[in-house]
Parts: sequence; structure tokens; C-alpha cells
Amino acid sequence: MTTTHNAPWAEATSGFLPTVPDPDVEPGDGIFATMQAAVDAALLAHREYINSSMADRQRFVTAIRHAMLKPTTLNYMATQAVAETGMGNVHHKYLKNRFAAELTPGTEDLVTECWSGDEGLTTVEYSPYGVIGAITPTTNPTETIICNSICMLAAGNTVVFSPHPRAARLSIWQVRQLNRALRRVGAPENLITTVAEPSIEACRALIANPEVSMLVATGGPAIVRTVMASGKKAIAAGAGNPPVVVDAAADLEHAASCIVDGASFDNNLPCIAEKECIAVDSIADDLKRYMVSNGAYELDPAQRALLERLVCTPTGPNPEWVGKSAAELLRAISVRPPAGVRLLICETDAAHPFVQHELMMPVLPIVRADDVDAAIALAVELEHGHRHTAVMHSRDVGALERMGRAIQTTIFVKNGPSYAGIGIGGEGFSTFTIAGPTGEGLTSARHFARRRRSALVRG
Ligand code: NAD
Repeated sequence: MTTTHNAPWAEATSGFLPTVPDPDVEPGDGIFATMQAAVDAALLAHREYINSSMADRQRFVTAIRHAMLKPTTLNYMATQAVAETGMGNVHHKYLKNRFAAELTPGTEDLVTECWSGDEGLTTVEYSPYGVIGAITPTTNPTETIICNSICMLAAGNTVVFSPHPRAARLSIWQVRQLNRALRRVGAPENLITTVAEPSIEACRALIANPEVSMLVATGGPAIVRTVMASGKKAIAAGAGNPPVVVDAAADLEHAASCIVDGASFDNNLPCIAEKECIAVDSIADDLKRYMVSNGAYELDPAQRALLERLVCTPTGPNPEWVGKSAAELLRAISVRPPAGVRLLICETDAAHPFVQHELMMPVLPIVRADDVDAAIALAVELEHGHRHTAVMHSRDVGALERMGRAIQTTIFVKNGPSYAGIGIGGEGFSTFTIAGPTGEGLTSARHFARRRRSALVRG
């Protein structure tokens, strides 16, 4: 089906009339047949958006929050994300979307800096980049679109999304809902656009488009390398392999329950989720016992070997098993899952593929260390220099301090589950784009804006 765009500039722009196969798509929904058309529309939208006031921007952010927080929408996104990607847990995805909509800061994040004195008044304010190209992952497809849309629009940009092809249908539906919600509150059309058929080729076209001033990639190493080599301003949020260290001085019962909660959240898909546990030898048995009483199942060596053959390839996890539940993994190795099982644990050495690779499955290998300093040293090694996320359980403030200094991760959670680091059950705002490689850390509106200084002399 061919639809005709009714925006005033449509006829004047060659290649701008989108052919949209989805019969539900209306003009202004932001869905275009080609990446060039999606960028053109976002560029034209930006020319109009640049005249919006801060109050308008905040109103648009509020409209995004309201649209995404409708229980029917949250339910739809959670169930469809699991259905389309084949990964994750519906209840946890519901929560992640809710937190993305509630806890991502809007225009309040753009705080003007100023100096005043005998020489006058100098301010530093934030200016939009223009059109941002945002590449989103399959593991948090809708959460990233919510979070990036709020931040990027709050900072005065328009955004073209390149969703993961495995989450294409839902991402397109979501972009449509966002544009409709924005139109209802008087926003310009096409503040958020995407293509009708997301693909790697479309993503490459987005990266290469000269009208795209900034690239934001949330994903694995290949896309991080690609945007960083693009020659454009890039924010790259890449992979992690978060270790959790458990010291002899930890509250073990609390540590075990936090680790099971964090490592099983959304079937371990989050980049921040605990991926391997390093436990001081003297408390490792007690820790495992508490984990089992909190919904973990300990694999014996034969089961561990079977699971390894199933889910590991020489280069990393087998994508077929990424994001599956603990029960599904157990059934696949012919073990009847105990009621309420959330996480599989097993003892391994540090070289084991479960430890070395970012598995993104509810499988937590446990490696023993002689003492807390050996555990910290091993955690630094296993984090592979991503500088992403680390977790530690200890009541020894000195040991916590030593780990923080040694590992230097963007997020360091102490005595809580990993997701406390993104404001879920911990203080602070939320984000689903954690930019370690380019150094912005937990991104918010201010990272999607240029800093502009203005000096009034002796005014
Ligand atoms: P992925 O790298 O396979 O895909 C991410 C996006 O990049 C997708 O839109 C994909 O289509 C695109 N892409 C990938 N390779 C490309 C290439 N060569 N050329 C053009 N486009 C390309 O990642 P995924 O499996 O969807 O997500 C999981 C990965 O993302 C994990 O490594 C996880 O740690 C990471 N992640 C990081 C953060 C963070 O904030 N740091 C958040 C979520 C996920």
C-alpha cells in the first residue's frame, strides 16, 4: 500500500513519499520505506522543532511517558518483545519499560552553568545536534527507544531509529505510537522516525547519511566499533561481562538473594546483569546454599558439561539460547526444572566459557578465590576492560573501596542487585544506554546536546 505524506514540505522533497507496507501506518507516524526518507523527514521535523520552547519539549516528553506507561501498552511491549525476539521474561520487560518511562530524566537534566563577577556574566547552555541516528539492541528493544526518545527530544533533537531486525515489528509499532502521542499534544510530525524494514543495510545507510549529526549505538562490539570509526560524533554503549565479588565479610543471605535477583532479571539479558560470581573460598558453600534457597539450581559437573555443549560456540554464546529461562535450559538438558527455578549456578574455573563470555542467559558460574584481594584481581581480569559494570557484596568498607579503585567500571553496585545501578531499587535516574567506550557513562539529555558558552562582558 502506498501512502502519501501530507506534510507541507512533502511534495518538494524528492524520494520523500514513503511506500509503507503496513496498512495501519498513517502519514506522520514516522515510518518510511527508505532510510534516506526517514532521515529527510527527521531533518524537516527538526527545522520546525528548533522553534519549540523548553516548556513544549517537556510537554512532549510527558506525552511520551504517558503513552508508554498505559498498562495496555506496557503489557503489549513486554509480551511482544518476548514473542518477537524469543528472549527474556514478560514480567521483567514490563518493569524495565515502566522504569524507562518513569525514571529517564527530561529537560530538567539540562542545567545551565553560569559564572558571574566583576567581568560580567558567562553561561553554558545546551544546544541540539540536529538529527540523531540511534541504533538499538534486541535485548532491550522498546526500553532503549523510550529512553533514547525522551533524552534526545528533551535535548531538542529529532531521532531516526535503526532497530535490531529481530525486534523490527514491535519497534515500528512503538515509533508509530510515540508519533501519535506527540501529534495529540501538538508536536511537529516525525520527531521520531524509522524504516519499515529495519536491516543491517538500513543501519549502514543511517550511519553514512551526511544529515545525521550524531550516532548513538547501544549494542555489541561490532556496532560500537562501527560508530566510533564513522568520523561523526558518536556515543557508544557496548557489551559488558559484569563480575560479582562476594567477600567473607558479606551478609551472605542478602548477597545470595540480590545475586539471584540480578542475574535472573529478564533472563540475564541486561548488559549490567551479574555474569560471573567470584566468591571467597571460605564462604562459597554457604553462599551457594543461600542461592539455592532463593530459586537457584546447582548444576552437577555432568549437567554443566551438557549445558556447555548446548549453549556455547567457540566464539561465544549460541544465539538460539540467549535470553531463555532457567527452566527452558534445564529441560533442554533433560533435567526436570524445580518449581520456581530462576537461575542455574555451577562451579567452574576462571577459564571456563561461561565465565569468559557474555552469555546473556540465567547461568551464573561461580569461581573460588583464596581471599578478597585475589577475588578483586580476578574480577578485574574477567571484566575484560569493558569498564561497564561490577558488583560487590561486603561489609568491609576498605575492601569495597579497593574493588572500586581497581575495576573502574562505569557502574559499581555495592550490596545490592546489579539493576540498582540504573535506579531500579537504587538511587539515581535510569538509562538503557550506558556509554562506557565513549565515556559518557549513564546517558541522559545533556549528553545529546552541544555545550555552548555565552559571555556577556561587564554587563
Ligand atoms: P548487536 O550488536 O547484535 O545489535 C545492536 C544493534 O546494532 C542492532 O540494531 C543491530 O542491527 C546493529 N548492528 C550490529 N552489528 C552491526 C553491523 N556490523 N553493522 C550495522 N549494524 C549492526 O547487539 P544485541 O544482541 O542486539 O544486544 C546485545 C548486546 O548489546 C550485548 O553485548 C549487550 O551487552 C549490549 N548492550 C549494551 C548496553 C549498554 O547500555 N551498554 C545496553 C543494551 C545492550
